[in-house]
Order: sequence, then C-alpha cells, then structure tokens
Amino acid sequence: MDLKANNDIKEFDDKALEILNKYFGYNSFRPGQKEIIDEILKGNDTVAIMPTGGGKSICYQVPAMIIEGLTIVVSPLISLMKDQVDAIRDIGIESAYINSTLSNKEIDEIFETALSGKLKILYVAPERLETSQFLNLVSTIEVGFVAIDEAHCVSQWGHDFRTSYRFIKSFINILNKRPIVAAFTATATSEVREDIAKLLGLQQPKVFISGFDRENIKINIIKGANKKHFILDFIKENLESAGIIYAATRKEVDSIHEYLSSKNISCTRYHAGLSDDERSRNQEDFVYDRYNVMIATNAFGMGIDKPNIRYVIHYNMPKNIEGYYQEIGRAGRDGEESQAILLFSPGDIHTQKYIIDIGTGNEIRKVNEYKKLQNMTDLVYSNDCYRKYILNYFGEEYDKKCNKCSNCEVEGELTNKTLDAQKVLSCVYRMKRPYGVTVLIDTLRGSENKKIKDIGFHKLSTYGIMKDYSKDDLKNFINTLVSHRILAYDEGEYPVVRLNERSMSVLRGEEEVWFKEIQKAKKIVEDNSLFEILRNLRREIAVEEKVPPYIVFGDATLKEMSSRFPKNLEQLGDISGVGELKLNKYGERFVNTIASYLEENQLEVSFEYKKKEKSVRSTSASRESDETHSEKLMKQKENSSNKEVKKKSYMITIEMLRDKLSLLSIAKEREITISTICSHLEQYVLEGNEIDFQIDFTDVLSVDRENLILEAVKEVGDEKLKPIKEKIDGEISYDEIKVALLKNRLIV
Ligand code: ADP
Repeated sequence: MDLKANNDIKEFDDKALEILNKYFGYNSFRPGQKEIIDEILKGNDTVAIMPTGGGKSICYQVPAMIIEGLTIVVSPLISLMKDQVDAIRDIGIESAYINSTLSNKEIDEIFETALSGKLKILYVAPERLETSQFLNLVSTIEVGFVAIDEAHCVSQWGHDFRTSYRFIKSFINILNKRPIVAAFTATATSEVREDIAKLLGLQQPKVFISGFDRENIKINIIKGANKKHFILDFIKENLESAGIIYAATRKEVDSIHEYLSSKNISCTRYHAGLSDDERSRNQEDFVYDRYNVMIATNAFGMGIDKPNIRYVIHYNMPKNIEGYYQEIGRAGRDGEESQAILLFSPGDIHTQKYIIDIGTGNEIRKVNEYKKLQNMTDLVYSNDCYRKYILNYFGEEYDKKCNKCSNCEVEGELTNKTLDAQKVLSCVYRMKRPYGVTVLIDTLRGSENKKIKDIGFHKLSTYGIMKDYSKDDLKNFINTLVSHRILAYDEGEYPVVRLNERSMSVLRGEEEVWFKEIQKAKKIVEDNSLFEILRNLRREIAVEEKVPPYIVFGDATLKEMSSRFPKNLEQLGDISGVGELKLNKYGERFVNTIASYLEENQLEVSFEYKKKEKSVRSTSASRESDETHSEKLMKQKENSSNKEVKKKSYMITIEMLRDKLSLLSIAKEREITISTICSHLEQYVLEGNEIDFQIDFTDVLSVDRENLILEAVKEVGDEKLKPIKEKIDGEISYDEIKVALLKNRLIV
C-alpha cells in the first residue's frame, strides 16, 4: 500500500477519525494528535513530544489499525504492558504483549496469532528485540510500523537511560522491509531530542512538540506549612480521590506511611528499598483503586497510565523542574481538574544537594544537576506565575498569568506579620553570630534548656517574646521567612540562620511582611451521588473482569454520564469515551443504573445529543402532531400539581400496563428502559398494591428463555445478574433476566 498518495491521505484522515470514534468513543482528536497521525500515515518517521497525559498512545494505536502488517510498540516497563494491552483489547483491538512474565507456551501462542496475521499491535520490552526467538518471528512476518514509547530512554541525558534502547536501531535495520518508525516522549530538551533521532536511526523525522501546558492541573507551592498536618487534612477532605505523595527519601516515605496509617488513612507506598513483590503489589493496589493514596519516592510512576489521579503532592521540593513537571503530569491525565501541591521547606534544598552529592560521581553531571536544582529553587522563590516560569523553562512562550497557580490566585487572605518577623529577626541580630533554628526557637519561646542558659541567651531582651507560638508553629514561621528570603539559611554541616539585606529593611521598618494564610484543604471533586454510584458499578465490573477500573470507563466518562443522564444505549453511545465494544459490553448495566437513579430521585431530564446529528431525534419531532398514550395520561394529570405528576411517574407505567401495552412499547413511548419499568412495578407493589391485571411480557421474554433463566437461578441463585448470564450460553440480555426475576418474584 502506498501511503503517500494524496487521495489516500484524505481517506486515511476519515478512517483515523472513524477509528477514534468507533473504538475509543472520542469524537475529536486532541491538539497535536491529528498532525502526528497524518505524518505517520504519510509513511514518514516521526518524533512526537507531548506532555504526560497529552494522549500519546492514540497517536500510535490509531495508525496501527490502518497501516498494513504488525505494529510493534517498544515500551520500557513490563509491569505496565498488561494494563496497556488490556485497555486496547477491551475496546476491540487485537493486541498482545511479550515479556518475561509469560511462559514459553504463551509466547508461542502469541507468535502463532502474529503469523496468522490476526494481531494488530504487539507490545515488547526493548530487551526482547535482542532475542533470537523474536528475531526469527519478525523475519517471517511484515512489520509495518514500530512505535517507540518513552523514547528518551535511549539518551544518556534523559533521566531514565536504558542500554537496550540502543539496540532498537539495529533491530529496525534487520527487518525485511523498513517499517515506519515513530518515537514518543514527554522529555523535551534539545539534547534528548537529537539523541532520539540519531540513536534510534530515524530517517529525517518531523518533530512535533505539543504545547506543554497542562491546563487542568492547578499548581500550588506552599511554604512553611506543617507538612504532616497539611497532608492529613487534605487527604481527609479528598478520601474518594486518588493521589500520589512524593517524598525525597525512602526514610521519609516510610515515616509518612506510618503517620497516615496511624491516622487510619488507608495508603500504600513504593520505593527501591521494598522487595520486587511488594512494590508490584502496592503499585497494583493503587492502579486498581484498592488504595487511593500512594506515598513514594521518584522511583514510582514512570509510565503509570492511571488517568484518574486527582492530586500529586510533593512533600519535599524535587531536584529539578524536569522531574517535578513529569511527576505532577501524572495528575489528571483524563483532563479532569487536578491539583499539584509542593510543600516547600528550606531544608529541602539541603536534602537535594546531599542526594546529588552522593548519587553523582561524574563531576560534569554533578555541576549540571546543581544548576538544575538552582532552577527548581528559583521557581519556588519566584513571585510571578509559576506556570509561566515552568513553560518558559521548557522553551515555550507564555507571557500571561495563568490564574491557576498559587501565585496568580487572589484567594487566601493576606495577614500582616511584620511584628512577628521583627521579633524573630531582632533575636537573630542579638545572638551576634549564626545559630541553628532550634536555638533560635528555644530562645524566642523562653526555654529552660541548659544550652540556652550556658550560652547566656536567657539574658537577651528577645528571650521568651514569642511564648504564644508552639514549637512547630514557630518553626513553620521561621521556615516561611526563609522561604520568602527575609531570613537567610546557610546549609553546611550545621545549618544556621543569618540576617540578609531584606532582614535589615524589615527590622528598620522599611518593608512590611504580609503572608497569605495557608488555605484549608478543599475538595477537588465535588460530591455527586450518581458519580459515586457509577464508580461503584465500575469497580464491580473491574473486579469481575480483573482489570483496573479506569479500563472499564474513565472518570471523565462517568462524570459526563452523571451530568447528562443517558437513558438508553443510543444516548450512552453519545458520551465521550464510550466506543462500540464497550457500549455492547457494559452499556446495559450503566443505563439501568442511571435509570434507577433517576427513578429513585424522581428526576425527569431530557438528553441532548452531541456526537450525533439531531436527526436521530426525528421520532420526537413527529410526536408533536401525534399525541401519544403517555402524553395523554400526563395531560390528564396536569390538573394536579406538577410535582405530584412526577412523583407518580410509576403510575403512568402501571396504567399503560393495565391498558395492555407491551413492555417494549411502553419503553419506547416513555423513553425509559425495561429496567425502569421493572422498578416501577416493584415500587407499585412496595406501596402495598396488588398486581391484579395481566402483563404482557412476551416481547421481552419468551417462555423458553424464561425457563433457561430459572434453571440457571436454581444453580447460581438470584442475588447477582452476571452469574446467571454467564451460566446460560448464548445471548441472554440483562433485561430478560430482570424481567424473568421480577415476574417470578412479584407476580407468579
Ligand atoms: P500519555 O501517554 O501522553 O501520557 P495517554 O495516551 O495515556 O497519555 O492519554 C491520556 C488520557 O487521555 C487517556 O485516558 C486517553 O484515553 C485520553 N485521551 C487521549 N486522546 C483523547 C481524545 N482525542 N479525546 C479524549 N480523550 C483522549
């Protein structure tokens, strides 16, 4: 197939959109995606640089469905491959992965499927490319496209260098016919970009750099907070949301984990000091929503695809902006509102210097890392928009205020702290030479400590002038002064505080000190009871299917469902993120749950289509002239109050049943589901009524199928619908099961 012909491109464009819609359930490409896909489909090598969460996977998964032959995706993390493959299999894309967790037999089976031409996408770890078994396979099949994920791993300058990435180039050269090659990464520096093109052997690749701004992430940098109290309050306020807390050292991770556990917060942890088993178990617990809070060092997270992480808290300042931005990018990949919170204390700089010192042997790299640490520190001290600073750092122009970072934000009351600042500064002044923070605190609080007396600080006029502060509060206040550069902090073997020029101008009364109160933790996601119900249903399905919940549907999709209330499968198909296969697989259960919710809350809402043309609603247009049964009934009731009519919505169903209308015709006329009709009947009986009329069930349930269902119920019970469905081979729908159960519970 010659992909380069212009006509073909137009055709491929349409095809790409069709695939996006049919399989992924999305109705448009995100910025950058279309251009990248076009370039690949033209048959050209491509480098795509997109921020974490920007939507890279679709840029290779969609072309993979169009390009002839197998697509190989090289991905560095074997622990993630299963989830990545589960996610696309779940939407109907033939795919598999090969890594060391599979047995030889399983690998052979995958090779067979690949040979038969059925497989579209094969994920492999880079090491696999070097094995003779794999080389034999690819010598006999056509590989049309090679996508290299996390391509920065090929570069020494990137932070996750992997030797085996260097082999990819020769692997591509070995192939019978050179495939299209595309490299994807979120790391943008120019050295890394050049390395990717050169070391992966790309042929004049076009480089696409998508905007690095992640607008849905609010960037907060908080100075001088009591960190432990802050995270506890924050998590308590956001128990339903998933988040990561990054700390600089393993010790700190363990200590936070212990603290939060002691406060009954269920949380898990990840760092290099844990066994492989524990690490992968903890990671899985987090990905599968079994634990909402993950406390980790920066060893955690590369390639974590979990899209519904609502917050990332840095308990310490990270050592460079690259790492910081990559880590906060793990929040809100689904595009929903999310928070990044950095809890800064001046000691963090010291910790990071120490980590660079002991971790980097190479002097040139060490200097480079110190420089990056300085940039990170400058960001924290910056008074301007944080987003602007970060984007400019990555070479992107951005000269406005984002209004979504803690510097731009006007919220938060400013309080005048000049007097307290002067008390601290004058104490430092009177101490004559630099001391550590502990001595300063003890002096200001009038401690009886022997050391203070030995030095003679109990005689200072500032001794005991800040007794009203607790030790912790005073420490936080001094840290805040340092964080705002009103007091200097000298690191070294014994860190000490010193006055600087600004201290002097505050002491002289030339400068006032105003601090923003640290805001109380707020909820990121507003309560929405249907969203919670749908999340529970998602969790239930995820357990049954043994996949992470986000693979069933993302948060954004559930949120859209819980605000648009789709009442049937057609409407559900209009929700972003609902593709064809998922609609068939899970649609009914979601529609039924939403219908029950509307019913229980006596809500009547209409649905506006977005994906599809209004034409699908033509039935409702024709209804205007042709008044239907339910409308007549509604009109009759309109004399009573509107509220009353809504409340008695189930009575309309009952009257229609009395009038011998079949279940399907009622469902159609009233635009409700069969499941809602069942719940109307249940409600009718619950209110003490008897069903003293015949109901026509036949258009939903035949006698044969009812018998099949009742047979199955004898074996698996009638508590849950899924086991009944599974017990019966063939296409029995949940509606049939519900109707059969209802008929036999209420009527027979
Ligand atoms: P990356 O690999 O760049 O970090 P992903 O490929 O994991 O990002 O995509 C992040 C999230 O965005 C996923 O949940 C994905 O389904 C969603 N997404 C990607 N493209 C689109 C799109 N065109 N419309 C809606 N959602 C999208």
